[in-house]
Amino acid sequence: MDLELLRTTLEAAGEPSYRYDQAWAWQARGAEDWEAMSDLPAPLREKLNEQVPFSTLTVENEAVSKDGTIKVLFTTADRRPVEAVLMSYRDGRRSICLSSQSGCPLTCSFCATGAMKFGRNLTSAEIIDQALHFRRLGDVNHCVFMGMGEPMMNLESVLEACALLPDLGITNRRTAISTVGWAPGIDELAAQSRPMRLALSLHAPNDALRSEIMAVNDRYSIEEVLAACDRHYEARRRMTFIEYVMLSGVNDRYEHAVELAALLDAKRYKINLIPYNPSGSPYEGSSRAAIDAFQKTLEAEGIGATVRLTRGQDIAAACGQLAANALAG
Ligand code: SF4
Repeated sequence: MDLELLRTTLEAAGEPSYRYDQAWAWQARGAEDWEAMSDLPAPLREKLNEQVPFSTLTVENEAVSKDGTIKVLFTTADRRPVEAVLMSYRDGRRSICLSSQSGCPLTCSFCATGAMKFGRNLTSAEIIDQALHFRRLGDVNHCVFMGMGEPMMNLESVLEACALLPDLGITNRRTAISTVGWAPGIDELAAQSRPMRLALSLHAPNDALRSEIMAVNDRYSIEEVLAACDRHYEARRRMTFIEYVMLSGVNDRYEHAVELAALLDAKRYKINLIPYNPSGSPYEGSSRAAIDAFQKTLEAEGIGATVRLTRGQDIAAACGQLAANALAG
């Protein structure tokens, strides 16, 4: 919902300011429509229904995986594709993965979104509307900005959305902002006061390999990016998660694990190994045995590593896949 439009519409109608809080509280609790907001006078609900779209996004496609993962392809009012995902876990976590841009200007070679044309930055309303869609389906308690786009290139809108997420039940401590290493954004994140977690998609332990698979590395080298993450740690005292997608024969060898461990201070970084979701790219995911061996080597070298649970493999769950398939179709 465009909250600025809501505010100006209420002001123009001469409504008291608490009406805004009432309407937002209903939205944040998962109200289905204006009609559900029973403490707003009926004529006001009607007016809002006419003048303020309930969401800035339209659902185009919703895919539900066997494991319960729900992936949604939305479009904005100007028909830009946007994807978001809800993952539910046995321990009660209900985690949403949000997009910050439609398409992405960066071109990581393993990523379906990177292969699409870049559209534009999303507004904070378009970001929070992804979350509100899932809130209407039930409770949500974790959030990651790992969908389409590079959040640090649209940080202002991402932070505006983060300011609203606690009203939906997602604290800032349970929110992670993931970057491929847009160093100025990492510094900006460190300079603000909300306690979101930082996640760095590193995916390679040296500049030569990283530049091969992630063009952004030519702009900000591993050394520069890790220096920014260290500054973030100094400012916020929260560990950075290193995301490392496991690509068979590319970055998953023993020597890569040793090199990766040598880069990182175990007090500041934790590694999350990500099984690769095949997405029509030239890469294949590493085998389970290769991932386990990589994890063991990291741990033997003194740094903690977890392996991310794979979710939604049957519904094209990697970022950008649904939109890419829709565009291709
Ligand atoms: S991995 Fe992230 S930054 Fe890289 S192309 Fe995909 S969406 Fe963009």
